[in-house]
Amino acid sequence: MNLQDKVIIVTGGGQGLGRVMAEHLASKGARLALLDLDLEKLDAAVSACTAHGIDARAYPCNVADEIQVIDAMTSIARDFGAIHGLINNAGILRDGFLLRMQNETLAKMSLNDWRSVIDVNLTGGFLCTREAAAKMVELKTPGTIINISSISRAGNIGQSNYSAAKAGVAAATVTWSKELARYGIRVAGIAPGFIETEMTLGMKPEALERVTAGIPLKRMGRADEIAHAAAFIFENDYYDGRILELDGGLRM
Ligand code: NAP
Repeated sequence: MNLQDKVIIVTGGGQGLGRVMAEHLASKGARLALLDLDLEKLDAAVSACTAHGIDARAYPCNVADEIQVIDAMTSIARDFGAIHGLINNAGILRDGFLLRMQNETLAKMSLNDWRSVIDVNLTGGFLCTREAAAKMVELKTPGTIINISSISRAGNIGQSNYSAAKAGVAAATVTWSKELARYGIRVAGIAPGFIETEMTLGMKPEALERVTAGIPLKRMGRADEIAHAAAFIFENDYYDGRILELDGGLRM
């Protein structure tokens, strides 16, 4: 798919990987619909995209809320008249051990921490994919959907909720690629390792140092390297049903 004038939706587009991917796609001539929780962040990201001379719009939306997602996709279809691409990027962390002995008391991961991570990272991707794909079929503008999984999908200590969600994202990617190919829609994923964004900068410095030391390339990834991979998936019409691993060689 040539990205010039294509309408691409990026969830979590207000900051981090979402914003950098959106700007990169804008630099290739794509038109952007950005979804995120915070309107101020969205407006700043939209301005950065329109600086490339393309049309970009903000849609405040909680991707875990079915009605909000349906409303956002309906508005995007009305505003742009087409949907050619979606990146399911919105995600959160609520790290913690399933069980942890603290001062002789057994602390447990809360159901709320489990559910909120599954709701945003997995259910959010399900809702956005279902609604965006339905619009692609209705508008006869089939395109490509990219799901952001993670290296943690293999199972990472302290991340039962996040690992389960990202493994679900990877499995759903394969399933949807098989189901949606008949409508001309490709679905693929990216599994980043540790990338420099607000999400990872929130980690403790000693944890970051430990992680970086274990990466064969001895550095964290950059958001523009993930953006480059997203553009590759959109542009290469034979890439489908696979998860592109971008982690500097790190293995969990
Ligand atoms: P980030 O900097 O925290 O950005 C995520 C964005 O998503 C934020 O703007 C956040 O808004 C938004 N968001 C959160 N919950 C949302 C919801 N319910 N509805 C709509 N938007 C929501 O994270 P990032 O590092 O760019 O990560 C982007 C994606 O890559 C995530 O799926 C993450 O799991 C994945 N990933 C990241 C790394 C990494 O090393 N950075 C590695 C592997 C995978 P608020 O800030 O207001 O919550």
